[in-house]
Amino acid sequence: MNRFIFLFLIFGWTIYSQTNIPIGYFNNPIEIPLLLSGNFGELRSNHFHSGLDIKTQQKVGIPIYAPADGYVKRLKISHFGYGKALYIIHPNGYSTVYAHLQKFAGDIQNFVKENQYQKETYTLELFPEANQLSVKKGDLIGYTGDSGSTGGPHLHFEIRDASSRPMNPMLFGINIPDTKKPTINGIYAYPLGKDAQINQSQNPIKLRLILQKDGSYKAENITAFGKIGFGISTYDQQNGASNKNGVYQIKTFYNGEEVFNVLFEKFSFAETRYVNRYIDYTHFKNNRNRVQKLFRQPNNPLSIISGDNDFGYLTIENDFASIYTIEVTDYKNNKVSVSIPIKGKNLEILEIRKSTKTDDFIYSDQANSITKGKFNIYIPANSLYENEYLDIETHGDTIKIHKDVIPLHKSFTITIDVSNYKETDIDKLYIGRLNYKGKPYYNKTFRKGDKISTKTKTFGSYILVSDNKAPSIKPINFSKKKWISKNKTLKIKVKDELSGISSYRATINGKFILMEYNYKKDVLIYDFDDNIISETENNLKVIVVDNVGNNATFEATFFRK
Ligand SMILES: [Zn+2]
Repeated sequence: MNRFIFLFLIFGWTIYSQTNIPIGYFNNPIEIPLLLSGNFGELRSNHFHSGLDIKTQQKVGIPIYAPADGYVKRLKISHFGYGKALYIIHPNGYSTVYAHLQKFAGDIQNFVKENQYQKETYTLELFPEANQLSVKKGDLIGYTGDSGSTGGPHLHFEIRDASSRPMNPMLFGINIPDTKKPTINGIYAYPLGKDAQINQSQNPIKLRLILQKDGSYKAENITAFGKIGFGISTYDQQNGASNKNGVYQIKTFYNGEEVFNVLFEKFSFAETRYVNRYIDYTHFKNNRNRVQKLFRQPNNPLSIISGDNDFGYLTIENDFASIYTIEVTDYKNNKVSVSIPIKGKNLEILEIRKSTKTDDFIYSDQANSITKGKFNIYIPANSLYENEYLDIETHGDTIKIHKDVIPLHKSFTITIDVSNYKETDIDKLYIGRLNYKGKPYYNKTFRKGDKISTKTKTFGSYILVSDNKAPSIKPINFSKKKWISKNKTLKIKVKDELSGISSYRATINGKFILMEYNYKKDVLIYDFDDNIISETENNLKVIVVDNVGNNATFEATFFRK
C-alpha cells in the first residue's frame, strides 16, 4: 500500500471526522437557559430523536434567533409531526431545523402567509430560492410554540450535515451543563444461542445490581453457557431538569476487551426506524421500558453501533469464569459502570424458552399472503426482522393480527372483501386500528371495486367501521348575529367521532380565510390581523369533511367595526 494512503487511513480519517465540525459556529437559538426535555439520539417511538428538545418555560412565543448566517431553504406546515417547521441552510453546508413553532417572523412569516392565502391552505411545504429569504446571525426568525405532535411547548432544534444527517448539536459546542452520572434502570441477560442458558434458563432475566462504594454497580453472579448477550435500560439527566434523556455512549467489555460500542453522534433518517430492532421491542410493549440490546443482531444496520453482525455477543464456555462490564457515559463524560461476574456452567436447563407456535409461520425474507374469510393480509419480504409465528384470528368485522409486540420495518396490507355491502354503503367504510380502549382509529383506507384496504406498520386488531356521521362544528368565542369588534380571533370547535377530520375550508363574505387547525384541541382559529374583511356585516361559512367524505357546513353572521 502506498505510504501516504496508509497514513491517511490511520490519521486522516480521525482528523477529518473530529476536526471537521465547526465548534462554536452556531449560537444558541434562544436566549433563555437551555434546559432539555429531550436530547440527541434518545429512544423514541419508531425513531431516534434527531435533535434537542429545548424547554420553553411552559409557554409559547419565545423569540428564536438565527444561530449563524444562511438562508431559508424549506418551510413546512403540517397538522402533525413538526407542526410549523423552518429549515435554514448555512454557507458551510450544515443546516439547522426549528420545529413546533408558534409562528415565523418578519419576511419569513409574510412569505408563508402569502403562500397560504394564494394556495388557500394552512398546510404546505415551500422551498424558497437561494438567498430569497436570507438571514444574518442573530436575526429574529420565529417564535417557539406547541404546533404539531408535541406533549407541551418546546423548541425542537436540529443540526444536520451536508447529507441531511442529523448530528448531536452538543458536538458543535451547544453547552448543556451536566454534572450527574447516567442512571441505570436495569440490566438484562439474554440467552441467544440454541443451547444457551443463563441461571439454568433459556429466557431473558433481569439482574440484581449492588451499588459499590465507588458509585459503580456489581451484578449478582450468573451462571451461563453458550451464546449470550446483555441489555440495558438507562437514562441521563442534565442539570436543572428532571427529564429522563438519552445517554451519549455505551461500551461493553469482556475480560477487559471492548465488545460493543454505541455512540449517539449522527445517524441518517433512512435508518432511524431500526430503533425497533435495537431495543427489546416486546419488552418495551409489555413494560413501557426501553432496553437497549448490547449486541448486533442480523438485520440491524445501525451506523451508531460499531462492528459487524454478532458484535457484542459472548460465547461462554463450561468451567470458565469471566467478567463482563458495561460503561455508560453522558456527553460531559460522567460515567457509570456495571460489572457482571459470569461462571461458565453447562447445567441442566430448568426453564425452557417461551415460544408459541401457530398456523401462520412467517419467513421474514419472503413475501407472505394469508387469507382468513373475507380478510387478506399481505406481508412483503423483509417486513419482519426475524421469522415469527403470528397469531391471527377473525371475529365478525374484526381481525386480530398478532399483538403489537413484534416490530415491522415495512408496511403490510390488510384487504377486506366488502361485496356483501350495498354500493352506497361501501363509500362510508374505513379500516380502523383498535386502541387499548377499543376505539377504532382511522387508518388511511383505499377502495378498489368491492375491496377496501389499508397499509400499516403495526400489528394489532383492525376493524371494518361504517361512518355515517358528519363532523360537528361549534363557535367558541362568538355567537350568531352578535357584534364582536373586540375579538382578535375567531375560534371554532370541530370534531369528528369516527373517521376523523380530513379537510376544512372557511370563507368570510365568500373570501377564503386562513384557519389554523389544532388537532390536540379540536380547534380552528382565524386571526383578524390577516385583514381579509373590512365590512361591518360578515357571513362566515365553514365546511368540514371527515375521512370518508361526510361533511358539515356551519354558517354565521357577525358584526364588526
Ligand atoms: Zn423533538
